[in-house]
Amino acid sequence: MKFTLFIPITFLLLFSISSASAHFFPNITSIPPSLIPNTTTWEAFNKLMGCHNGQKKVDGLTKFKKYLQYFGYLNSSYSSFSDDFDEYLESAVKTYQLNFNLNPTGELDEQTLKHIVRPRCGNADVINGTSTMNSGKQPRPYSANSTIHTVAHYTFFPGRPRWPESKTELTYAFSPENQLPENVKSLFARAFERWSEVTPLTFTETTSFNSADLKIGFFSGDHGDGEPFDGVLGTLAHAFSPPVGRFHLDGDENWVTDGNFNNGSPASAVDLESVVVHEIGHLLGLGHSSVEDSIMYPTIPSGTRKVELANDDIMGVQELYGSNPNYNGSEPSLIPREEGDWSGAHYVHCSLWGFVFPLIIGIFLL
Ligand SMILES: [Zn+2]
Ligand SMILES: [Zn+2]
Repeated sequence: MKFTLFIPITFLLLFSISSASAHFFPNITSIPPSLIPNTTTWEAFNKLMGCHNGQKKVDGLTKFKKYLQYFGYLNSSYSSFSDDFDEYLESAVKTYQLNFNLNPTGELDEQTLKHIVRPRCGNADVINGTSTMNSGKQPRPYSANSTIHTVAHYTFFPGRPRWPESKTELTYAFSPENQLPENVKSLFARAFERWSEVTPLTFTETTSFNSADLKIGFFSGDHGDGEPFDGVLGTLAHAFSPPVGRFHLDGDENWVTDGNFNNGSPASAVDLESVVVHEIGHLLGLGHSSVEDSIMYPTIPSGTRKVELANDDIMGVQELYGSNPNYNGSEPSLIPREEGDWSGAHYVHCSLWGFVFPLIIGIFLL
């Protein structure tokens, strides 16, 4: 009897401790200097510049391996790591580089570290050892001029979970603990509307948190789901695939709500709406995409705003739910390349240069 009481009490305590009153700022100038950290969560990884296979006892490598494990690049069953750079780490770094359209050297070069230290979504890029991003696709040669061909890769969670066809009217609610101001609530409504515009889905706020399909909350640190938040920057938020519907944001971020970053900003400022639009993609069943312009790309530099759905996002969500009958957006300019992959179709987008360059060569040869 004591034990059965102990569990719910512990659960309640855990949530009352970790539930955060989040920091919202109407604009970048309103962030007090005391909340702007000198260093950010992953900046120490910059000391690993140039590290490669064969190096022994490199200070900080254990922490870096834990980072890669968190996002699925190293086997989740490993419980202890060494500071040695071995072939498993090299392979994991190559997978990361492929996913982020980088030259797959297996070394911690400048370009790779630049991506690694960026704030990002807490959802993994590799799930159960299978990457749904670039590295899980057909191998393709690395092209230094990636502007010629952009491969669009929207992805889904393993098994392609989605909300059932009979359930197009989804409800969402905010954790009562957070007591969010109205301007933040309307920011979420705007973000939901972006997905509603291109699908038959609707999103309606409800005050009944427990019965809502989508449950939104800001939390600090460990909040009971095994995915603790890490303070300013680092992981910003995470969301679960259908039909779980849980959407958690890091209460310790300096969330900016007006979306105006034109005049430069403190390194710690994060655009709330950009992150919300991304996480809603996960709530609907989308995984991470290797297309840098897409909403479902895993990282976002602080002080930037990205809220418009890209063709990649629209095609992905429409493959799951179909189109909104009233959606009259421009037709996606992506050309089907190959089919039959559970994680999403592949498309090749030839930019203007893809046509202009051969034309110039042709004229030159004439
Ligand atoms: Zn994500
Ligand atoms: Zn969580």
